Amino acid sequence: MSPPAATYDIPVATNGNGLNVNKDLSVKTAGRGQAKTLAEMENQWESFTFAPIRESQVSRAMTRRYFADLDTYAESDIVIIGAGSCGLSTAYMLGKARPDLKIAIIEAGVAPGGGAWLGGQLFSAMVMRKPADTFLNDVGVPYDDEGDFVVVKHAALFTATLLAKVLAFPNVKLFNATAVEDLITRPAPTQQDPKAVRIAGVVTNWTLVAMHHDDQSCMDPNTINAPLVISTTGHDGPFGAFSVKRLVSMQQLPALGGMRGLDMRSAEDAIVKRTREIVPGLIVGGMELSEVDGANRMGPTFGAMALSGVKAAEVALAVIEERMARGGE
Ligand SMILES: Cc1cc2nc3c(=O)[nH]c(=O)nc-3n(C[C@H](O)[C@H](O)[C@H](O)COP(=O)(O)OP(=O)(O)OC[C@H]3O[C@@H](n4cnc5c(N)ncnc54)[C@H](O)[C@@H]3O)c2cc1C
Repeated sequence: MSPPAATYDIPVATNGNGLNVNKDLSVKTAGRGQAKTLAEMENQWESFTFAPIRESQVSRAMTRRYFADLDTYAESDIVIIGAGSCGLSTAYMLGKARPDLKIAIIEAGVAPGGGAWLGGQLFSAMVMRKPADTFLNDVGVPYDDEGDFVVVKHAALFTATLLAKVLAFPNVKLFNATAVEDLITRPAPTQQDPKAVRIAGVVTNWTLVAMHHDDQSCMDPNTINAPLVISTTGHDGPFGAFSVKRLVSMQQLPALGGMRGLDMRSAEDAIVKRTREIVPGLIVGGMELSEVDGANRMGPTFGAMALSGVKAAEVALAVIEERMARGGE
């Protein structure tokens, strides 16, 4: 059934930039939507009304910003693939340390946060082994101290707090519902491998489009150039372990190690220690690394994800400094 046809439109004059310049509208509605505090609204609900708006203003308010962001971040300093616990931790450290860098986060899901909205078996609490409590202190997430580990009462409190901090950085843009479909490469031959490449950005598409390449043809993607990409796409799955699987198919990695059985004790240390630049221009962190190195599963303990993000940011800044010193792209 089609929606009802529009029956009444308030004519709105716009200037060349699409901004509403209809003075009449604001005069007629003066006094509406003027409450400055919630207290001023108390017991005034009969006369309550929102400030006036036209649908096109809503559209333009969104699209103008989104397309400006697409333009700004088409050349980024760093692209982070995946906004799970590791990707967000990386973005937090980088956004805080380097307000001069343009950082784009590409997240395939509509909801950022990856697997960090719940603990194990969909329980609420999130466990982090020390010294990951240092990260919680920095971000401002409260927890119960249980000696060698701490417990955040709900995993969502960690993810929501971290996400809010990351999104507030003016130099970080999250593009969600957007999938990385491929990596941009440039030749970087070495003596050992004349076919070696470096990663020079990402190829993106709306996730819903990326999911339909099998039944729709010719849906070309978009691109973001960046001298450094940090991949944190989680363990293998429909979208997971994306970059390292692509490195294998483009013969830049011989094979994946494959995530091994669960051993929290060794898995967490291994993920943090091995967070590194896998090929020039591509740092891998979080559970994606377990697929490269054949590390153990860690299960529902998230300290390694936060500290892998801290280390990924540290490695990224070192790589950027080194590339800039060489004057390279
Ligand atoms: C159902 C479930 C199963 C789990 N299984 C395990 C397990 O087997 N072993 C274990 O150690 N821990 C497991 N965990 C615990 C924990 O959730 C993960 O280890 C942790 O979330 C990994 O963090 P991450 O940041 O590395 O990746 P994730 O939290 O998985 O985040 C990765 C993010 O990257 C995004 N992404 C992926 N591909 C792309 C792409 N191409 N483009 C853009 N974005 C992309 C995803 O949408 C996701 O948001 C599981 C959790 C859940 C909820």
